Amino acid sequence: MKVYIIGAGPGDPDLITLKAAKALQKAEIIIYTGSLVNREVIKKFGRPEAEVYDSAGMTLEEVLAVIKKAAVENKIVARVHTGDPCLYGAVQEQMDALDRLGINYEVIPGVSSFLAAAAGLKREYTLPGVSQTVILTRIEGRTRVPGKEQLADLARHQATMCLFLSVQVIDQVVERLKEGYAEDTPVAVVQKASWPEEKIITGTLRNIVGKVKDAGIDKTALILVGNFLGGDYKRSRLYHPRFSHGFRRDSGGDAE
Ligand code: SAH
Repeated sequence: MKVYIIGAGPGDPDLITLKAAKALQKAEIIIYTGSLVNREVIKKFGRPEAEVYDSAGMTLEEVLAVIKKAAVENKIVARVHTGDPCLYGAVQEQMDALDRLGINYEVIPGVSSFLAAAAGLKREYTLPGVSQTVILTRIEGRTRVPGKEQLADLARHQATMCLFLSVQVIDQVVERLKEGYAEDTPVAVVQKASWPEEKIITGTLRNIVGKVKDAGIDKTALILVGNFLGGDYKRSRLYHPRFSHGFRRDSGGDAE
């Protein structure tokens, strides 16, 4: 018996990892986050005879009950999350419960939606001279955000920011961000990144709220903020001719 906790990727079924696809192909029981995971992923890689559960209408206890039964029957389970399970996936409580139950599990990472959004925008989050930091955060909702992580405080860093679970209150988000970023800071909202119906709205902190409301976007979208979206930046030293020979020990990028 084994449980695979899988990141299904942002939507496009081709953006699942090979390892996750192989695990899905083995699974006799599939529990997926129906509100967000593209059903096509399950159809494409799941076995037709697999028992499929949509966790959207289930409690943690109900999910665990399905897994416990599978353990008794010695079946393979795929617990499928959207993007990567480590971000806003409520996955820790599941893993801790499985540890307590002595159930064997493995986590297989996925392509998070904030990565698919950058691909859709064709932008780099970490432009030299602009920002070398990416803040992944959300506005508080039913889940509280710790006091030291208030948006206005995070905004003061003027780093690249990716906001999950927040587009439904973009007006409040923008008000708080304006306490740290200049009003002309570029903002992009990407809905359903990598899905056929992907939608991208761009603007600035001054005008993005109206544009997003006009487009009717109130869910499954990320708000991306920062000067990485436009304007000047410094050329990277990574591919600079002066640094292109030898072993680039001094480089600032991923050749390290
Ligand atoms: N674990 C997921 C995030 C789950 S929280 C991940 O790594 O992407 C759910 C939130 O993620 C949504 O409210 C939305 O803000 C964002 N999201 C998930 N899929 C998305 C997609 N394809 N495009 C844009 N945003 C997405």
